[in-house]
Amino acid sequence: MIRQDVIEAAGKIPEIIFPIFTNGTMIDETYEKLLDKCRNLIPVFSIEGHKSTTDDRRGVGVYEKVISSMKQMQSKNLLFGASITVTKENIIEVTSSEFTSQLAALGCKVVFYVEYVPVTVESTSLAPQEKEREYLARQLEQLRIHQENIVFISFPGDEKSSGGCLAAGRGFFHINSHGGAEPCPFSPYSDSNVRDTSLKEALQSTLFKKLQSEEVLMEEHAGGCVLFERREIVEAMLL
Ligand code: SF4
Repeated sequence: MIRQDVIEAAGKIPEIIFPIFTNGTMIDETYEKLLDKCRNLIPVFSIEGHKSTTDDRRGVGVYEKVISSMKQMQSKNLLFGASITVTKENIIEVTSSEFTSQLAALGCKVVFYVEYVPVTVESTSLAPQEKEREYLARQLEQLRIHQENIVFISFPGDEKSSGGCLAAGRGFFHINSHGGAEPCPFSPYSDSNVRDTSLKEALQSTLFKKLQSEEVLMEEHAGGCVLFERREIVEAMLL
């Protein structure tokens, strides 16, 4: 949200829906007007659960700000979603029907469950393992049956149904703030920059082609993220 110029440019392409992942703290009157005018821009608010869980991770007062931004969206009849990082610590809270009903009451129409992906060895204990992923899958099944007013998307859990990791252009790729084309935000390696190449050329980068042809993306993994587990292999591809 600090790049209003980028968001305004996206708003001018109504045939594409742009979800804007945000912590919600920068939604002001100017943004409300822009979101009202450009209905292809859909804010997706990051939230970690109830007040204490959200404020513990994001800072005191963030929860109230997010809820107030959601209420503003609702009062203007604007479509919005929520993005929740699922850890071993908050999984029961954020997949409870009590929590999702609260989001529904605020007008939230789509929930992204993003499994916590460790990017340091010390934080691996937070990452959902098989037991938690099975729990998440069971809860999602129930939520999809009983809460039809919200679309639930699980990531990377739903990768199972799409036959593996969708990074490196297999389904999507990520452009970092310097223009580097990376396989995924959780695999921050790059050998091409969209300041120098077209998007089509970036999709054909040596790194992306190697990742796809060597089938790393399709490999089994213990939990979290296949490219984090295979990061040495990804790093070697850049040499
Ligand atoms: S790189 Fe990891 S987090 Fe990203 S899509 Fe692949 S498995 Fe999921």
